[in-house]
Amino acid sequence: MPTDDDPIEDVSEDGFRIVRENKFDLLLNSYYMTYNQQLFNGSLPQLPVFWAQRITQPNGYGATAVYVPGDARLKSRCIAMDDTLSGMFPLERLCLLHEMVHVKVGPDCGHGEEFVAEFRRVLDANKWEVMGCIDGPPPNAQNTQPTPETETTAVNPRVE
Ligand SMILES: [Zn+2]
Repeated sequence: MPTDDDPIEDVSEDGFRIVRENKFDLLLNSYYMTYNQQLFNGSLPQLPVFWAQRITQPNGYGATAVYVPGDARLKSRCIAMDDTLSGMFPLERLCLLHEMVHVKVGPDCGHGEEFVAEFRRVLDANKWEVMGCIDGPPPNAQNTQPTPETETTAVNPRVE
């Protein structure tokens, strides 16, 4: 019997193979939803983003990330990103944005002029913040810093 821990292999009609865990990453998917609202006016379809253990192109080469538009064989569309990108801020966000531009311009557009123009537009709209501050504190550092005691008391009355 397969369990939730067994990796799933998605295979698209044109031969992309995605090996991934059967797990929904909340943070990754919240980036998708946030960028969709902020940078695409919410125009992109809702689709899941997965961390993949391995992505293989039809020609046998690996891929760092891919947008699968959905076809006869792999019914639902998704974005898959190699899980070695996990925690490699800001690369994972940049790769996600790259795939989101593919969603916007359509899978047949490749990396032509329309893709480049759209990618440039979203980077400018985001004021290039997606590139992050790579030589400063990590983006979530403020959440892990100790909270002053008065503030802790204020947000949690049970603390004495
Ligand atoms: Zn691409």
